[in-house]
Amino acid sequence: MNDIPKTMKALVLKGPNDFEIQEAPTPEPKGDEVLCRVKAVAICGTDPKIIAGKFPGFWPPTFPAVIGHEWAGEVVAVADDLKASEKVAAKYAVGTRVAGEAHKGCGICLNCMTGHYTVCLNYGDNASGHRHYGFTSPGAYAEYIVTSVKSATPLPEGLTYQQGAMLDSAGVALHGVQRGRVTTGDTVLVTGPGAVGQFSFQYSRASGAKFVIVIGRGPRLAFAESMGAIGVDYEKVDDPVAKVMEITGGVGVDCTVECAGTQQAIDWAIKSTRKAGRLVMAGLPTDTINVPWGPMTLAELDILGVRANPNTAAPALALMANGAVTTEGIHTHTFPLDQFAEALATFVERRDGAMKVVLEP
Ligand SMILES: [Zn+2]
Ligand SMILES: [Zn+2]
Repeated sequence: MNDIPKTMKALVLKGPNDFEIQEAPTPEPKGDEVLCRVKAVAICGTDPKIIAGKFPGFWPPTFPAVIGHEWAGEVVAVADDLKASEKVAAKYAVGTRVAGEAHKGCGICLNCMTGHYTVCLNYGDNASGHRHYGFTSPGAYAEYIVTSVKSATPLPEGLTYQQGAMLDSAGVALHGVQRGRVTTGDTVLVTGPGAVGQFSFQYSRASGAKFVIVIGRGPRLAFAESMGAIGVDYEKVDDPVAKVMEITGGVGVDCTVECAGTQQAIDWAIKSTRKAGRLVMAGLPTDTINVPWGPMTLAELDILGVRANPNTAAPALALMANGAVTTEGIHTHTFPLDQFAEALATFVERRDGAMKVVLEP
């Protein structure tokens, strides 16, 4: 820790809609943690809601707080405990480039023990070992972050830190595609071509989908089409579901990955999935969505919830590194951390075609 400054620049959230760059103590790694120099951190769709104070007392539990969780950076210090194992110490040695993950399970509850650590039964209980970086634990809108090595995956050679910062969106998409059991020859529909939707299309294709239909509109749909998706523009066709049925010979798709979270998109998703098909809920719906449970039950649809990106970091990055999946056109804007307000507005207002906006602290 010799050449690491005692304080760092951090974007401190002082209260709802109230943030500024401040000097904060540089955190120290303990137990299974490393200290990383944050090189790139992307704005998540959840961040503007946290900043606006939409989850009082929960995300963050208290103010002031440092949020941000879609990051990549370089290991600059390793906790003493980790050095006890030569193998572990070598994997996370100083200088290792890593991409971060927001969730770190407690490691001892039933869900963690069975790999479902993003739905840890000790969620939010820091004493149990659970961490949700950038939500209930300090995050990455700062020069440095302390993270468990469980939530830091070495970046494959050839990937940049900016690409590493796409891991959250990419990993959510891959988790959804895996939940939907997309396999060779499947027909897939993606509703909502934001970052998670674009990656869902790309990972479905990489998983062997025969074709992927995307329902959307505007430049985001045009981008998915330019990448090889079959676009259905809901502003231009009378009935997007009829279009999906036409493309699939009246059957519907094997798997739908819903990434919009809106009533309209969820209706299309349900009606476009074939009987006994899979419906993956990768967008976060509001509590007031009406769902036609009767027809869904009789169609024997499998409904699969998605919470973040468990166990997908290594394969998600591997497919970026071998070119099967690209972040190009998804990561659209980059700002220095001290222009956070500008970056946030660019992201929220989708200025100039913004999809993923990256900060470089
Ligand atoms: Zn995120
Ligand atoms: Zn747990």
